[in-house]
Amino acid sequence: APYQVCDVHELLDSTLLMLSGKIGSSIKVVKEYDRTLPRIPTYPGELNQVWTNIVDNAVSAMNGADGEDTLTVRTALEREQLLVEFRDTGPGVPEEIRGRIFDPFFTTKPVGEGTGLGLDISWRIVVNKHHGHLEVQSVPGDTRFRVFLPLTATDP
Ligand code: ADP
Ligand code: MG
Repeated sequence: APYQVCDVHELLDSTLLMLSGKIGSSIKVVKEYDRTLPRIPTYPGELNQVWTNIVDNAVSAMNGADGEDTLTVRTALEREQLLVEFRDTGPGVPEEIRGRIFDPFFTTKPVGEGTGLGLDISWRIVVNKHHGHLEVQSVPGDTRFRVFLPLTATDP
């Protein structure tokens, strides 16, 4: 299917609405959207999968911690691309595994709870399909999964 030119905020809102049961009432969701950003070429179903994987991980990382859990979803123009940043207040991704979390089947979750495929699939959707970038920055209490998407299409 061809790409669709979309407002990412509409995609984010529909994903967050769909995930509201999973996010639950103990996690505060803060939206920091730059509404002046342009509409961009997207594969909406696939981007929905990316947001879902990242939010799912953020929610499991924060679960069990104190009552101040916050998921912040921010959009901005950065490096001439559209940045969608998911920030959680969980314990973070330890430095020694940060290079491996995007590998297929890499998981720190108990058997049966994690497939280790969420970030691998997300990587392929963002990098291969959208020609964007995906990166993680993490210190305890501030973990950011940063999705960069090109403003214009590079192929049909
Ligand atoms: P899974 O969720 O099945 O374990 P993923 O590919 O989605 O597989 O994630 C791989 C690993 O990356 C997780 O097991 C976890 O160790 C780490 N990770 C991902 N997101 C976060 C996060 N927000 N905070 C802490 N660790 C994370
Ligand atoms: Mg996951």
